[in-house]
Amino acid sequence: MISKVSADSLMDTVVKRGYCSGCGVCTASKGSVLKMKLTAKGNYEPHKSSLASSDSGVVCPFADHGVNEDSISETLFSNIDRIKKKKEVGHYRNIYAGFVGEGEYRKNGSSGGGVSWLCAQLLNEKKVDYVIHVKQSNSTEKRVFYEYNISSNISELKEGAKSRYYPITLEKTLEKIKNSNGKYAIVGVPCFIKGIQLLRFSEEVFMKRIVHTISIFCGHLKTTHYMDVLINQFDVPQKEVAKFDFRHKIPNRLASDYGTSILTNQKKKKVKVNKTLFGTNWGLNLFKLKACDYCDDVIGETADISFGDAWLPQYLEDSMGTNVIVVRNKYLDEIIKKGIEEQKLSMEPLSTEDLIKSQAGGFRHRREGLKHRLFLKDSNNEWRPQKRYKAEKLKNEKRARIYENRIRMQEVSFNSRNHNNLSALMRELQPFIKVNSRLNKVSLAKRIWNKIKRTINQG
Ligand SMILES: Cc1cc2nc3c(=O)[nH]c(=O)nc-3n(C[C@H](O)[C@H](O)[C@H](O)COP(=O)(O)OP(=O)(O)OC[C@H]3O[C@@H](n4cnc5c(N)ncnc54)[C@H](O)[C@@H]3O)c2cc1C
Ligand code: SF4
Ligand code: SF4
Repeated sequence: MISKVSADSLMDTVVKRGYCSGCGVCTASKGSVLKMKLTAKGNYEPHKSSLASSDSGVVCPFADHGVNEDSISETLFSNIDRIKKKKEVGHYRNIYAGFVGEGEYRKNGSSGGGVSWLCAQLLNEKKVDYVIHVKQSNSTEKRVFYEYNISSNISELKEGAKSRYYPITLEKTLEKIKNSNGKYAIVGVPCFIKGIQLLRFSEEVFMKRIVHTISIFCGHLKTTHYMDVLINQFDVPQKEVAKFDFRHKIPNRLASDYGTSILTNQKKKKVKVNKTLFGTNWGLNLFKLKACDYCDDVIGETADISFGDAWLPQYLEDSMGTNVIVVRNKYLDEIIKKGIEEQKLSMEPLSTEDLIKSQAGGFRHRREGLKHRLFLKDSNNEWRPQKRYKAEKLKNEKRARIYENRIRMQEVSFNSRNHNNLSALMRELQPFIKVNSRLNKVSLAKRIWNKIKRTINQG
C-alpha cells in the first residue's frame, strides 16, 4: 500500500513549483478534491474543485511516496522468470530492434509501428477489452487537438497511431475506467505510467482493471503552443487544420530527418522538413514542461514493455523508422517472439549498450544535466522532487552553461505570450539560441579527430 499525500501539500509543492506533467492521476484517487485544467500556458495542471470538502489524499509521480521507479519495478518485475537488470534500463527480459512487417502498422506509425501492433494483438487475443491511448480530439473544447481516448477494436486503435508532442491528461479516462468494468491496456509516457502504477497499488479497482502498461520512451512533453508555432509556419489558419502529423516520414531521408504535415479542411496536404521549421530542435528545450527537466526515467522502467526509436547509425538509413523495444512482462515477450516466428515482426536482439546509445542525448540531459539542475535548486534552497540521482555541481563548466542556458530557453518559451507572433518569439529567444550555438560549436580539430575515430572504428 502506498501512503498518499494530501491535495494541499501536492498543490503547494509539485504544482505551485511547476513540476506537474499534467498526468491527472491525482484526480483519480477515491475522494480526490482535484480537477484538471488546461492553463493559458498550454499545459494541464490540477486545481482544487470548488465543491471539494474533505481531502482523502492522492498519489502523484512527482510527490514523495517513499517509492521510486526502482522500487516500483522491483515489486512488479523482479520475480519474473529470466528477468535481468541494468542501471540505465531497469528490469528487462529481452531487448529488440526492428519493425512490424504485417499490414500498414509501420507506414502509419511513428517509428516501427510496434505500439499499435502490440495493442492490436492484445485486443485480438481478448487479453484486454480496451486500449487507452492518444488520438485526435472529438471535443468541442476549441483549444484541445489531441486527448486520451478509449479504443475497443482495431479500426479505432489505428486512429491513434503516431506520437503527439502535445499535452494530454488521463483525468476523464481514469474516471471511465473506475466506472466501467473490463480490462484495459494503457499507453503512456514514463511519468504517466509511474503514476498509473502508484494508482494501481493504492486503489484496488485500478489494479483489477488496468492489466497491461505500455510505455513510449520520452525526451520531453510540449505545451499546446509548440503545435501553434508549427502551424503558424505553414500559413494555414488554425481552424483550417483537419489533421496534423508531428512525425511525417520522408522517403530517401534519414529516419531522424522527418517532417511535419498538415491536412487542411479542403484536403490539401502540406509537408515541411522539420529542420526548416523554427522550434523543432529538441535540444533547445522550447515549449517544454519544467517537470521534464526533473525526470530521470527515459525509457519507462515501470511499464510491462517500452517502445522507442532506434536512433542508431545501423537503423537510421531506413526512413520508414525502426523501434527499440524493452520487454519486461513474460506474456508480452511471448507475443513478440510469436510475431517474429510468424514473420509478422522483423526484429533482432539489441544489446543494453546499443539501447543506451540510441538515447544518448536523453540520458546525458537527465543524468549529468539532471544532477546539475538539482544542485542549482538545492543551492537556492528551493523545493524539488526527490530523484534517484544526487544533486551534483557539474565540473565541466561549458556543459554546465549549456544546461543552464537550456533552463532559460525553457522558461522564456514556456512563459512567452508570443506564440502567435513568430518574429516576436524569435526575437525573445534569439540571445539564448545564440549562446546555445556558441557553446555547442565543435572545434575544427575536434571534428577532424572525431572523423578519424569513426573511420578507425568502421575499419
Ligand atoms: C512526447 C513524446 C516524447 C518522445 N520522446 C522519445 C525519445 O526521446 N526517444 C525515443 O526513442 N522515442 C520517443 N518517443 C516515442 C516515439 O516517438 C514513438 O512513439 C515510439 O517509438 C513508438 O512508435 P511506434 O511506431 O511503435 O508507435 P505507433 O504505432 O505510432 O503508436 C504510438 C502510440 O503512442 C500513443 N501516443 C502518442 N502520443 C502520445 C502521448 N503524448 N502520450 C501517450 N501516448 C501517446 C498513440 O496513441 C499510439 O497508441 C516519444 C513520444 C512522445 C509522444
Ligand atoms: S504530475 Fe500528475 S499527479 Fe502530479 S500534480 Fe500533476 S497531474 Fe497531478
Ligand atoms: S520527460 Fe519525463 S516528466 Fe516529461 S513527460 Fe516525459 S516522462 Fe513525463
